[in-house]
Amino acid sequence: MDSDSVNLLIIDGYVDEPGCLGVPPYIAPYPRYIYGAALHSERFARITYATIDQLRTESRDMNSQQKDVHSRVLAMKYDWVIMITGVSVPGNYIGGTPIRYSEIQKYASMFTDSFKILCGPATRFGIGEEGGKPSIPVDSLVPVFDLVITGDAEIVISRILSEYYPLTPGMLPKIRELASLLRSDMDSIAGFAILGAQAILQHPNFNDRDGGNLVCEIETFQGCPRYRSGGCSFCIEPEKGQPIHRRIEAIIDEVATLYRHGARHFRLGNQTDFYAYRHGSYDDERYPRPNPEAIRHLLKGIRDRCPDLKTLHIDNVNALNFALYPVEARQITEAIVEYCTAGNVAAIGVESVDPAVIAKNNLKCTPDEILTAIRIINELGAGIGLNGNPCFLPGLNFIMGLPGETKATLDANLAFLQKILGEKLLIRRINLRKLLAPAKKLAQLGVSSRDFNRQLQKNEKLYFTWKNLVRDSFDMPMLRLVFPFGRILHGVFAELHEGNSTLLRQPGTYPILCYVPKLLSLQREYTLIVVDHGFRSITCLEFPCTLKKMTLNELEHIPGIGKKRAASIIAKNPKTQEDWLQIVDRAIYLALKQIQPDLP
Ligand code: SF4
Repeated sequence: MDSDSVNLLIIDGYVDEPGCLGVPPYIAPYPRYIYGAALHSERFARITYATIDQLRTESRDMNSQQKDVHSRVLAMKYDWVIMITGVSVPGNYIGGTPIRYSEIQKYASMFTDSFKILCGPATRFGIGEEGGKPSIPVDSLVPVFDLVITGDAEIVISRILSEYYPLTPGMLPKIRELASLLRSDMDSIAGFAILGAQAILQHPNFNDRDGGNLVCEIETFQGCPRYRSGGCSFCIEPEKGQPIHRRIEAIIDEVATLYRHGARHFRLGNQTDFYAYRHGSYDDERYPRPNPEAIRHLLKGIRDRCPDLKTLHIDNVNALNFALYPVEARQITEAIVEYCTAGNVAAIGVESVDPAVIAKNNLKCTPDEILTAIRIINELGAGIGLNGNPCFLPGLNFIMGLPGETKATLDANLAFLQKILGEKLLIRRINLRKLLAPAKKLAQLGVSSRDFNRQLQKNEKLYFTWKNLVRDSFDMPMLRLVFPFGRILHGVFAELHEGNSTLLRQPGTYPILCYVPKLLSLQREYTLIVVDHGFRSITCLEFPCTLKKMTLNELEHIPGIGKKRAASIIAKNPKTQEDWLQIVDRAIYLALKQIQPDLP
C-alpha cells in the first residue's frame, strides 16, 4: 500500500484511572503516544485524532465548528482505526462521556474496510460503566477487531508498523503474538511522547489562541513502590513490579513540546505517588526515600521552558513519605508550592482508618501518619495563590466495601474527618467510592466476586446514609473554609449550560465546580466571586458586578436576599446607602459591599 494514501483514525474513547485522567478537558498520554508511534513510522499520509464525543451522531450542544469536524471525520476512509478506552472508576463527567460497551461495537462496525485495533486499560481490566458495579470484560468484542492490544499499545503498534507492513491477512497470527508486548524501559516512549504532542492540535478542548482548557496529563513513572509487600489488597499497580521512571529531561522535553504547540495546562498526574518520582533506596522497609532534588529539578525545568503556562498541577501522594521521611517530604512540598500553580491537590489514598481494615487489606498508612501529611501540606500550601485558590491542599480518598469493614469502620472514618475539621485543617476534596476490585484480587483475599457484590448491595443503604452524612457534616463546612464568601477566582472556564445557568471550572487537578445562575458565553475564561456553597460545588457571580444590573435569578442566589428582596431591589432601584438599608439589613448590606465594592 502506498503511504501517500493511507489514513489512520485514532478514536479516543477516554481513559479514567486512579492514576490517569483522560476525559475532557484532560487528554491522557495514551492517545498522544500512539499518535507519536504512528507518525514515527511514516506509514500514514494523514492521522486523524477524534474523541468519541465528536463521533457521536446524537452529541449534545454541538456548535457549527464541531458539526464540521464531525462530518469531516466520518466522511473519510480509514485504512487503520485505533480505539482507546479504559474507565476503571466511572464518575459524573462534565467535559465528555466515555465510550460505552455498546458503542465500541457500534463504532467499530462503521469502519468495515479498516484494520481495527482496540487498546487501552479496558483490554486488561474491562469496561467500567457504573461506579460500584464490576467491569465488563472485552472478550465478546474480540471478533469485532482485528487486534486487541493488552500490552503497551504504542510499543505494539510501532513494532507492527516497522516489521509487518504493508499488512496481509496471513500476517495476523504473527501480529497477534505481539499484542501483549510491554515497554522495556521508559526511554522506549520518549520519542513517541515528543512526536505525539501534536495530537492536541486536533483536540476539541484546544484552541491555538490561548490553549483552551485542555489539560495535558503527563506520566512520570509506572508501578508502585509498595510492590515488595504486595501493596493494597484492591490495587493492580504492584503487579507491574519494580517501578520504572522517566528521565527528568524526557518529561521536561515532552511538556515543552506540548507548550510549543500551544498547550497551557499540565498535570503531572500519571503515577502512583508524585513524591516517589525517581525515589532513593528503601531505608525503611515500608517505603523508599523520596528524592527532592529530582522533583525540584523537574518542576523548575518545566517552569523555565514554559514561562507562560497557566496550570502546573500534580496528583497522587502517599502519606508515608511524610511519616517516614519528613525532611524530604517537606522539601518536596516546598518545591511544589514554589513551582506549581495554585489550586493544586495532593490526592492521598486513606481508604479507611479502621485498624482492622488497614491490617486486612495491607493499606499503606495509619490515621496518624495521614494526619502528619495533612498538617505539613496545610502548613506549607494553604496560602492563597494568584488564581484565588489555596496553593496546595490535600484531597482524601476513601473506599467503601473493603474486606473487614463494619459499620464501626464508617463511624471511625467520619470521626477522623471531624478531627480534621476540628483542627481547622483544609482539605480540597473528599472522594468516596465503592470498591471496584478485579476478581483476581478478591480471590487473593478469599472473597468470591459473587459474595462481594452481594455484600455491596446489602450495604447500599448504609453507604448512601454515610455519604450524605459526610457531605452534610464535612464537605459543606469545608468548602466554606476553602472558598469563603467573597473569594475572587480567576481564569474560570465556562464549560456547559444547564438550564438558565452555566457550569465553569478552572483547568487543573480536581477543580471546584462553579455554578453561575446566568447564561454565559461558553469556551472562555471568567473572573468570579464566591457567594454560596453546595456540597460539592460553589455558587458564584461574574466579577466585577453591578447589583442593580443583575437578573432576579442572580440576586436570589446571594444568601440573605431571597425572592422578595431581589424583586424589591429591581423594583426600587436603590441609589443611596439608606435606600439599600431599607431593603436589606446591615449584615447583608456589608456582604453586598464585598460583591460590589463601589456600592453606595
Ligand atoms: S500504595 Fe496501594 S493504592 Fe497506592 S499504588 Fe500502591 S498498592 Fe496501589
